[in-house]
Amino acid sequence: MKSLKAAHNILADAQQQIEILEHGKNGDFVLVPFEDKLRASNLFPLKPTQMEIFQVNIGKMCNQTCKHCHVDAGPDRKEIMTRETMQQCLEVLKNHPQLKTVDLTGGAPEMNPDFRWFVEEIKKLNRHVTVRCNLTIILANKKYYDLPYFYKEHQVEITSSLPFYRKDRTDNQRGNGVFENSIKSLQLLNEVGYGKVETGLILNLVYNAAGAFLPPSQSSLEKEYKQELKKQFGIEFNNLFSITNMPISRYLDYLLMSGNYESYMEKLVSSYNPSAAANVMCRNTVSVGWDGFLYDCDFNQMLELKVNSKTTNIRNFNFDELNNRTIRTGQHCYGCTAGAGSGCGGTTT
Ligand code: SF4
Ligand code: SF4
Repeated sequence: MKSLKAAHNILADAQQQIEILEHGKNGDFVLVPFEDKLRASNLFPLKPTQMEIFQVNIGKMCNQTCKHCHVDAGPDRKEIMTRETMQQCLEVLKNHPQLKTVDLTGGAPEMNPDFRWFVEEIKKLNRHVTVRCNLTIILANKKYYDLPYFYKEHQVEITSSLPFYRKDRTDNQRGNGVFENSIKSLQLLNEVGYGKVETGLILNLVYNAAGAFLPPSQSSLEKEYKQELKKQFGIEFNNLFSITNMPISRYLDYLLMSGNYESYMEKLVSSYNPSAAANVMCRNTVSVGWDGFLYDCDFNQMLELKVNSKTTNIRNFNFDELNNRTIRTGQHCYGCTAGAGSGCGGTTT
């Protein structure tokens, strides 16, 4: 009880620190509003370029509880997309060929009982499908053992987080035993042809920093990952995406509890890159929540910032209106515009 109270006190102090940082007392570092930075880059108000990616979060249930999860996902989350909402998504895809790629996220999307049906229906509409697979789900239960074959059969592109090519750093961020199971799953994916140039079956890995710092260069990290994973485990993959941790949800709690919020935000703001701002993923994406509400991106989804449009639910999807909306930005957006930029597909510049 005592430690819970102490944790609450630390959090309350930290919330006060956010206030000071955002309002500039004591001549300290002031957190410049993100919109001011956009204005200075001639990007305000931020508008879509062309919506092409239809991102769907089909549930917050997950077999893992990673420290830095921005979805706050875990085994006890109950929010899951119904087949009815999936049918509404399919209807939208049928009527809008502009939405070329469907990006399925979770939680662990595979834990939704309608997951496979949904993938099959999307493929019938001839769309490219990417799935955020956490790797360990493949070994979590025998009902998932054949996932590599299912993915292969439907030519699904897989993107999987592997915070590092060593056990200690991966397990520290994602939980004990995650590294070992991730390696086994990657070997199974390789066995069916994933990650091999000649098969066209794409396997991407995702790196994100273990602490309150920005990720190193994506290309040098990719070389290092490829060398080490091949040498140690015989694993091959296509691309490494290096992603900046977003100051929201569980990662924000970590920053506040560890007293790193101010220095992390300072790093993000001082690394603001106008070219990265011009390429943020919300400019070509619309993101559907498990309950059918629409968002600019997965991060706004977790902050419950619905799209700034008359159309806020998949039930009454209006492409033109959404393609002309003003994107809702906030201080968390600095996570997408620091350095080489960051999005679901890694660096953006
Ligand atoms: S596997 Fe992904 S969705 Fe699940 S807890 Fe980890 S980061 Fe969150
Ligand atoms: S957090 Fe979302 S809304 Fe903000 S810049 Fe990134 S993708 Fe766009």
